[in-house]
Parts: sequence; C-alpha cells; structure tokens
Amino acid sequence: MILRMSSMFLRTLREDPADAEVPSHKLLVRAGYIRRTAPGIYTWLPLGLRVLRNVERIVREEMDAIGAQELVFPALLPREPYEATGRWTEYGPNIFRLKDRKGADMLLGPTHEEMFTLVVKELYSSYKDLPLSIYQIQNKYRDEARPRAGVLRGREFVMKDSYSFDIDDDGLAVSYELHRKAYINIFDRLGFDYVIVKAMSGAMGGSRSEEFLAIAENGEDTFVRSPGGYAANVEAVVVPQAEAVDASAVPAAEVVDTPDTPTIDTLVDAMNAKHARSDGRAWTASDTLKNVLVMLVHPDGSREPLAIGVPGDRAIDEKRLGAQLEPAEVAAFEESDFEKHPSLAKGYIGPGVLGAENSSGIRYLLDPRIAEGSAWVTGADKPGFHVMDLVHGRDFTADGTIQAAEVRDGDPAPDGSGPLESARGIEMGHIFQLGRKYAEALDLKVLDQNGKLVTVTMGSYGVGVTRAVAAIAEGNHDELGLVWPREIAPADVHLVATGKDSEVFTKAAEIAAELESRGLSVMYDDREKVSPGVKFKDAELIGVPTIAVVGKGLVDGTIEVKDRRTGERADIPVAEVVDHLVATVRS
Ligand code: ATP
Ligand code: MG
Repeated sequence: MILRMSSMFLRTLREDPADAEVPSHKLLVRAGYIRRTAPGIYTWLPLGLRVLRNVERIVREEMDAIGAQELVFPALLPREPYEATGRWTEYGPNIFRLKDRKGADMLLGPTHEEMFTLVVKELYSSYKDLPLSIYQIQNKYRDEARPRAGVLRGREFVMKDSYSFDIDDDGLAVSYELHRKAYINIFDRLGFDYVIVKAMSGAMGGSRSEEFLAIAENGEDTFVRSPGGYAANVEAVVVPQAEAVDASAVPAAEVVDTPDTPTIDTLVDAMNAKHARSDGRAWTASDTLKNVLVMLVHPDGSREPLAIGVPGDRAIDEKRLGAQLEPAEVAAFEESDFEKHPSLAKGYIGPGVLGAENSSGIRYLLDPRIAEGSAWVTGADKPGFHVMDLVHGRDFTADGTIQAAEVRDGDPAPDGSGPLESARGIEMGHIFQLGRKYAEALDLKVLDQNGKLVTVTMGSYGVGVTRAVAAIAEGNHDELGLVWPREIAPADVHLVATGKDSEVFTKAAEIAAELESRGLSVMYDDREKVSPGVKFKDAELIGVPTIAVVGKGLVDGTIEVKDRRTGERADIPVAEVVDHLVATVRS
C-alpha cells in the first residue's frame, strides 16, 4: 500500500485547535487524523481511520484467539429490553433517546448487555451450547455530561464489547480468566504502560471486576497501589470498618460554646483556646466529626437528601461518593434545601439531628473509620455550638457506612500490604463478572445435565477502541508530534523525497514500489512544490516510526533513515535501503 501525499486527503495544521487541552487531542487534529463534528463527536479522516483499524485488528485477533465470535448488533435499538432490565430509567440523561414515526421509543445503544442476552435466549436452550463468548466492535452512544479530550471521552465512540455465557460460576471464572489474558495481550500489543486494578462492581452486582488503566497524568481515573501488590481504582477502595473501642472512660457528652466556628479549622482553634483536652494533647481536625449534606438525584428525577459523617481531617471524594450511589447522581445541597430542613444548622450539623431515628429523617451514613465507642467533637445542631465526647453507639447511631472519604497517599492498603500511593490513569478496558442479573431480568435459562432449567451466568468485557487511539497518542508523542508504536502506525515507513531533481523522485518512487511489493505500507511524500522543511515537519507531526529521506545524499549513493522515536539517523547505501527498511519494520 502506498499513500501518496500529493493526492492523499490530508491537511496538517500549524495551529493547535482552540478547544483542545490535552496533547493527544491537539496532535490528532493538527496531524489530520480526526475532526470535530460536534462536542464529543468526531470524524475519522483517512490517516486516523488507518490507526483505528489497526487497533481494531489487534483487538479482533486477540478475541478470536480465545474463541470469541464476532457479530454486530444495531446501534438503534427498541426500548423494551432496556425497560425490562431497568436501564431505560437507570441511565437517566446519559442515554440518547428518540422516537420513530409511529411514536415508539428507541435508543442509541450505550452498551449491549440486553441484546446479547436476548439473542442467546432466542437461539440456545441447553448446557451443551455453553460456554459461549460473543463480541462486537461497534459504535456506542452516551450523552456524557463532560465529553473531553477529543476521542478520549466521546459521545459516539467505538467499543469492543464481549459477553460470556456459562452454566455455572466455575465456568464464568474460566471465561473471565480467558478474557483477562486476552486483554493483557491486547494492551501489551497496543504498547500501553498499564495497571490492572480492582474496580467497582456497582449496582450490577457480580463479583470480580477489574479495570485496565493506562498510566497517564491526564487520566480521569485515580488508582492506588501498595508495595505488596494491592491495586485498585480509588473508587473501589474499601476501607475496613474500624474495630470498636472501649468508651467506658469517656465522660458524658457536653455541649460547648464555640461561636463563629463553621469550619473545621476555626473549630479546632476554638476548642484549643477554650476547651482544652484533659489529656494535655491538642485537638486536631481528626478529633472532629464533619457532617456533609448532599442531594441525590435519582434516575426518575426524584431528590433525596443524604448526610455523610467523616473525620474532620478528610474531604469527601466526589468520585468515590458518586460511585457508591450510582445510578443516582450527586448534586449540591442548596440554600433552598436548608430552608426545607430547618432543623439543620448550617456549619453546626451534628448526628443529633440526622439518621432514621432522628428528627430530620435524613439518611445518615458514616465513614468506616468512625469506630463504635469512639468519641467526637461535632455539631450540636445550634449555630455557634458544638458537642464534645459524643460517642458513636452510645450517644448517636447512623443508618450505615459509606466509602466516600478521600483515600490519601500513605493510607494503609485495605489488605495490609503497605502504604498506598496514588497515580492517574485512563480506563482502557473493563472486565466484569456480571453474574445472573441480566439473565434473570430477561429470563435466559437453559436445561442442565439433569434436564432442569437453570439461569445462565454472564461476564461482560469492554475495550475502548477509539479511546485507545487517543490514549496511545497521549503516551507517545514529543514536542514535534506523534510517535506511533509500530503495530498501530498509519504506515510502516514515511518516505520523503526532497529537492527539485527529478532523479530523486524517480528513485523514491522506485523504493516505494519495492517496499510495497515486500508487503510494507508506505506513506510517500511525493509533493513537488513543497519545501523539505515543511515535509520534515509533517513527517514528524504524523509520527510514522521510520522516516526515510531521498534527497541530497543520493549523489553519494545514500538514503537517510531516521528513527522517529530515538531521533537516530543512519545513511544507508541505496542498494541496501529496501532490505534495511524491511528488516527495521519487521524487527
Ligand atoms: P468511564 O468510567 O470512563 O466513563 P465506563 O466505566 O462507563 O467508562 P464501560 O461501560 O466500562 O465504561 O465501557 C467499557 C470501555 O469503553 C471503557 O473501559 C472505556 O475504555 C470505553 N469508554 C467508555 N465510555 C467512553 C467514552 N465516553 N468515550 C470513549 N470510550 C469510552
Ligand atoms: Mg467501566
């Protein structure tokens, strides 16, 4: 394959697009790979499509290698299956909905669990048909609240989604493990520096759930790792419940006068100034119990206030909180909400007014660090007053616990494997033991060995294909442009002919043809009235890993071959250049 730049549908840009913040987005637009059509919706130009197809090919090869079979569902789907599983409502505003001419509700598929479950139900009826893994590589539609960074988070994007079907849990474990290995192969081949982390199983139930995160400063996900091998998305870190402590020596709770102390810092200062501790140690923020109110917005639009109690030295992590409460969304508790709950004294809210058995009726959940028997300084539900020695279990209770407090570097790993360290990543893939939720909702049963009907158990496995293109670009560029890993580059060799000498173009065309006949794809810059400077800049921006320049050296019988990644150059004799390039590409 020869891509001649004189006729190729390609325009590189000198300026970064105004709406681009991260390098991958800037470079993919500037180098002529993608173009924005609407927020989060992109056109794939010829160069971009070549890279996208390469990613797809790798994903497809590895899925086929584990015996998964490819099919394609429509993106335009009827409402009913999604109604049956509750997701028509649960997805809330994230789904693109439309009506057909008869007024029937339709949607653009955000993910296809329902369709896969139904097609297996229609065609299969016996344990002898299982196990089965089927997949598709197809466009998904999600009306993301914050489309971001070009194709990294789009509203239309390509996902590989596969689903496994097994008769029992052991079978599911095998299918899961096969997918896990396939994903390791995929992300190794795509050249990612990645981690496999524990992920949320969420409302879908199921047991094992892991994400493949590409390590990247610009990633939206935060993960934590310990020296002993613990690794989890920060959303999925489960802080163990602190063990109960003996409160028999704690004096009775006492309301104390703390004027103008609506924040934890002002409270700690006031306590140290006016209500010194009996043991001589100073009060710190971690002695205080901070109660934070949020408003849950359920998918049906209903609103529910929620109070969360955390040690005063910890913030609430919005992503951890959100992950716990899905599919509800978390909104701010507004001034007008306070007005509707006059028992809440803003800045001085305490457990006294919260919880099911208390006056406000607001659900109250505690951080698991708040042990039974531990004593706290917290709001007294009166402006300007706090209460000290308020003991959990003795003086107040809550409706449960929630994993919403921030996880900090140095915190102990939940499995005791050492201190946690955090970093950022981009979620590239997610493998997930769904279990029987969808099979139950859609009644997917088969006959087992004993002729008894049993519900099938499923796994769900996704790879962000368009996201991978952006994430690879994010991890493989320099100040000059993109630097593609060989397996997904838009061409094997970028051959540049420079100068005005027709001999140069004749020789370059000859080399391009020979490379093509040897099975290489060549991007050939055969533009006649373009300066060498512009050609070199374009080659560097486009990022094919090997660049060969037919130009000045030709009079001495050499061609310059450059490694885009290392910048290394070598003058190769003309007679050897094709062999040299083939060997470089195949090495
Ligand atoms: P995220 O947390 O990033 O929104 P998700 O957990 O909702 O992703 P899944 O439903 O697990 O995503 O989808 C499987 C894969 O599809 C993800 O691992 C990711 O690589 C990709 N993906 C999800 N949403 C998008 C999007 N808006 N744009 C591009 N790729 C996406
Ligand atoms: Mg996910």
